[in-house]
Amino acid sequence: MTARALSSCERFNDKVMLITGSTTGVGEAILRAFARKGDRVRIHGKRKETAEALAGGIGEKAAFIIGPPEVPETPAKPVGATDGQSGEASEFAAPRDVPPLGKKIGFTIPAIETLHPEARGVPKVVLFDFDGTISLLRAGWADVMAPMMVAELATLKSGESDADLYSVVREFVDRLTGKQTIYQMIELAAQVELRGGIPETPLAYKYKYLGLLHQRIAHRLDELRSGRAKPEKYLVPGSIELLEALRKRGMRMYLASGTDEEFMKQEADLLGVTEFFDGGVYGALDDYKSFSKGILIERILSRSECHGAEILGFGDGYVEIENVKTVGGIAVGVATDERECLVVDEWKRNRLAGAGADYIVPNYLNQADLLERIIAP
Ligand SMILES: [Mg+2]
Repeated sequence: MTARALSSCERFNDKVMLITGSTTGVGEAILRAFARKGDRVRIHGKRKETAEALAGGIGEKAAFIIGPPEVPETPAKPVGATDGQSGEASEFAAPRDVPPLGKKIGFTIPAIETLHPEARGVPKVVLFDFDGTISLLRAGWADVMAPMMVAELATLKSGESDADLYSVVREFVDRLTGKQTIYQMIELAAQVELRGGIPETPLAYKYKYLGLLHQRIAHRLDELRSGRAKPEKYLVPGSIELLEALRKRGMRMYLASGTDEEFMKQEADLLGVTEFFDGGVYGALDDYKSFSKGILIERILSRSECHGAEILGFGDGYVEIENVKTVGGIAVGVATDERECLVVDEWKRNRLAGAGADYIVPNYLNQADLLERIIAP
């Protein structure tokens, strides 16, 4: 997750999603992703039997419309013209059961960007970052961290405006994203000192931040605990399918996060992904020098589990991308736009590309294609 990921994946909640051309392929994958998150979906395609079977498989949240790519705009039909491209989503106004929802939301088909086609191999070990790479439970964290830091610095009356302080904060929060949270707090303490203040300890700042963040995300955790929401609502789309595909290939998987271990372990359990990580699930410890993503990679290499080139890494922060590239591994940058979880966030993409990512994906809906590109026959 990066500092720019200010909103969660909840934008489409309680709406009905019409995906044109959604009886097969990428359109179908997108439709299923919405359905798994609990959205009501409308399948659209030319073949009735296929649409019917798909709707039957999804359950009561799905219905279908049969028609040509050009969807007519009438009150009884989908709102929003489409160009007929498979995978295009519209908000939908159905007759009778669903109220009109306003204007169309469009997005492009999830695409994989290959930056380094020579980055292919036979990975033995796969390393995943957690927040923003698998989990969306903490989406919006930077929207909590940055204001808290600006408020701390503003009490020092340095003469800087809130906007000035925000740029200062934003720079180091972004730069340190992917490392353990404490590093952002160490920098905050340094910034307080720089302005003549007496800082609290970085650990105290970290707990202050975690308290605020918890208020923000507690309802998401409750939704999962109570079963009101399915894990898919807070997973980067296609995560489970990707993890299953990697497991099937016999790769050893590790989950490594800059978030405190006690919290991220609970969150991984709630999302139902812990079982995939036969290598282990690791998060930040208060003794922050005892663990990092870099240390984990060192350990894996020193135990001779694999060579550096046999490591495949997935991450949305440049720290983990750099770590994997430093040892010669293959890195996939996950530039998810966490508002929609379906398109590439250009800002994240540029940062991840700059860190050396070999591939950029907006999610894992095209995981089969991605693995075909990465894994040498
Ligand atoms: Mg992350």
